[in-house]
Amino acid sequence: MKKDSDHAVILKWINSIEKGQIRSLSRAITLLESTRIEDQNQARNLLEGALERLNKTDRIPTTRIGISGPPGVGKSSYIESLGMHLLSLGFRVCVLAVDPSSRVSGGSILGDKIRMERLSTQANAFIRPSPSQQILGGVTHTTQSIMSLCELAGYSAILIETVGIGQNEGAVADMVDCFILLNQPGSGDELQGIKRGVLEFADVLLVNKMDGATKYLAQQTLQSLQSTSQLINHSLKNYQVPIIGVSSVEETGISESWQAVAKFLEQAKSIGYFKHKRQLQQEQWFKKLSEFYWLQHLHTAKHSRHLKNTLLKEMQLGKKSILEAAQEFTRTLLNNR
Ligand code: GDP
Repeated sequence: MKKDSDHAVILKWINSIEKGQIRSLSRAITLLESTRIEDQNQARNLLEGALERLNKTDRIPTTRIGISGPPGVGKSSYIESLGMHLLSLGFRVCVLAVDPSSRVSGGSILGDKIRMERLSTQANAFIRPSPSQQILGGVTHTTQSIMSLCELAGYSAILIETVGIGQNEGAVADMVDCFILLNQPGSGDELQGIKRGVLEFADVLLVNKMDGATKYLAQQTLQSLQSTSQLINHSLKNYQVPIIGVSSVEETGISESWQAVAKFLEQAKSIGYFKHKRQLQQEQWFKKLSEFYWLQHLHTAKHSRHLKNTLLKEMQLGKKSILEAAQEFTRTLLNNR
């Protein structure tokens, strides 16, 4: 009886998300983000139903864009300008902002909603900051689940904002169709160093703050990037990564940057690269989900605590090395599954 009523609740919830009801979508995201075991069971049922619905119906194609760059480069400002531009083109825009700084507070960033003042008041835009759940860069299997819910709610452009700290860009690039990297004016000299690796993930490179006092420096950075662009090895054959100067404040270069994205997507679709990337996104999602379930099992399995305590004691008594104990712990729980 309870199962039927649970099922009915989930079904009703999915229906209202599909109708684009923001409150239902927000509540669903909160549920997906919850770390409570009881919530996770419900979240799984909800997501299962949502994915089934997504697969069943013919939907408008969505575009998933990752936007990254160092703190202060102007990600939020750019997303606001790009978002407004996309709305004018008829897109419904969803912004998922993940911020590793939230690891400290354990909550989500409050700033983004306030910073994207114009976008957040638009009827066809939805902005959702997410706590990072202890993962560097805040990108987890949950981000992909949330993305699917937003697509069910009819958002056609999904913008994922992450702080680029040189380590998490690959994780974001793996879950989007196009990855935009924002550069600071004056960052050109670092190109030969650590940032080279990060550049390889970029499908479109932007230099922000091409205005006012920073214009000259931004132009220099643009030239410096352009001079090294041949060195960027993109996995789409014969694709030259575009490098564009933008001002998110003056809103110049925004439509050019979108045209560059659209051109990349067109080229990617024409040779099957887009489809290949979507498959990779599925694989990544599968991998992250499996890891999540596995960790959950490690912590919640029946004998987990008892076994852990026994092994810790054996370690302390010098009967087992830390490596032996850790391996025995995982192996035993795996076999008990
Ligand atoms: P984020 O940390 O990367 O999200 O950066 P923000 O969007 O919060 O911007 C950081 C600072 O740079 C803010 O003071 C913005 O006003 C400023 N900023 C952002 N974009 C531009 C731009 O295009 N031109 C100028 N001059 N300042 C900008």
